[in-house]
Amino acid sequence: MSDLQHFINGKRAENTAGGSGGRWGDVFNPATGERAGRVALGGAAEVDQAVRAAAAAFPGWAATPPLTRARVLFKFRELLEREADAMARIITDEHGKVLSDAKGELVRGAEVVEFACGIPHLLKGDFTEQVGRGIDSWSVRQPLGVCVGITPFNFPAMVPMWMFPVALACGNSFVLKPSERDPSTGYRIAELLLEAGLPPGVFNVVNGDKEAVDALLRHPDVDAISFVGSTAIAAYIYATAAQNGKRVQALGGAKNHMVVMPDADLDQATDALMGAAYGSAGERCMAVSVAVAVGGVGDRLMDKLVPRVRALKVGPGTDPDAEMGPLVTGTHLAKVRSYVDLGVAEGAKLVVDGRGLNLQGYESGFFLGGCLFDDVTPDMRIYKEEIFGPVLSVVRAPDFEQAVKLVNDHEYGNGVAIFTRDGDAAREFANRIQIGMVGVNVPIPVPMAFHSFGGWKRSLFGDMAVHGMEGVRFYTRLKTVTSRWPAGIRSGAEYVMPTMR
Ligand code: NAD
Repeated sequence: MSDLQHFINGKRAENTAGGSGGRWGDVFNPATGERAGRVALGGAAEVDQAVRAAAAAFPGWAATPPLTRARVLFKFRELLEREADAMARIITDEHGKVLSDAKGELVRGAEVVEFACGIPHLLKGDFTEQVGRGIDSWSVRQPLGVCVGITPFNFPAMVPMWMFPVALACGNSFVLKPSERDPSTGYRIAELLLEAGLPPGVFNVVNGDKEAVDALLRHPDVDAISFVGSTAIAAYIYATAAQNGKRVQALGGAKNHMVVMPDADLDQATDALMGAAYGSAGERCMAVSVAVAVGGVGDRLMDKLVPRVRALKVGPGTDPDAEMGPLVTGTHLAKVRSYVDLGVAEGAKLVVDGRGLNLQGYESGFFLGGCLFDDVTPDMRIYKEEIFGPVLSVVRAPDFEQAVKLVNDHEYGNGVAIFTRDGDAAREFANRIQIGMVGVNVPIPVPMAFHSFGGWKRSLFGDMAVHGMEGVRFYTRLKTVTSRWPAGIRSGAEYVMPTMR
């Protein structure tokens, strides 16, 4: 990466000179800590250019038959496969996650493309013959117009792919504002969509930060906003977009619990906790950051966990033996470390301390070893707040009821898991838990593309989750047509509410 620009109307677009458009942001290689390049930070002028391009491309794309739109996505799916290795490398170089994990996120994103390839079936409307004498009625779902995606750093490929495949398949045009911390994947996606046959202007990328986001939220030609990121920003996006008359879905942060019941298979539970807490250095919205040890299981669980966390293989994402890479930036590393310091100050027991990790040859990389806290209590900030790093907190709960209460009382409601061999407990848990995505002996219950992804409480603002049928509903609006063809029979003016007789 050197200097990354915007992608508007099918080609690279320069940041306009002067004004706010002359700004740049640094992009780092997290493994080395070196600056890898710069990204243009767009302002109102670049946003306007992109939204105008999308608005101009919209009517032609909306009028394109759904099957033809789907064929572009079929081709895009093939290109994603062709480019999988190169794209994984882009993700690892800017985000830091290990290459196998980067490939995994590409596969999960491609699954949404596959779902969107079925759009002719998904857009079929409802038809009722004879709602009245000689009268038929049908409903169709039509595209909205210009849809915007504002996405976080932690899944630079998968999260945009939660959004645009469905939006495009439904006939909308799209403007993506990727995270400024790892922006190259979004740009590459735009190039591949063009190669797949998507007409110029249907998919655009504006790089930038708050300034570009604010311009998108206020632009009169933007019809819908999909956002994924932290809760404070999600709440702001939801309120501001709604105030500006836009349809909005805004997914926020998380604090996902994994409840370990006394009857659980502890080897399975330990494996699950290791992957879910430390995979991608804990920078996943579905990462498990709290283990709730129920009844007497806490000591036995710790006996298994501690050696595993100590043995965690941390290294650059390009090292095939590494299980966990660095954090995304030096600023984020400092924030996560400060939470570890805070946990110690709050009185939690830091059983494994990853702060001293020093990797030979990568001394300036943004690395933190796995950290494990025991005896964490609900009043502590390390329990209440999202840390978004390789830090697992163990909380002890006396029984099932207390574990359920703990999860339900938390302000976040993204994901949760229960590990047990008791079907009755699992069923009760799934039924009563106030969380959007629930795993039973599955630590990271990310729904498949044909279901929908979304949390509850302060993890999602808006009514609809992403992809699956919720995504189709979000990116379309309902029209219902009532029709009759009277053959020369006149019934005269009717002054009362029409009723079917
Ligand atoms: P972030 O909120 O800092 O940034 C997300 C997007 O918002 C970026 O495109 C960024 O440029 C923009 N942004 C940042 N500050 C802004 C501001 N003040 N005004 C307007 N726009 C702003 O999030 P992040 O650090 O990139 O990503 C991590 C967060 O995302 C975590 O909280 C994680 O839980 C969350 N996340 C949630 C989900 C989910 O499905 N619920 C999925 C992935 C990530």
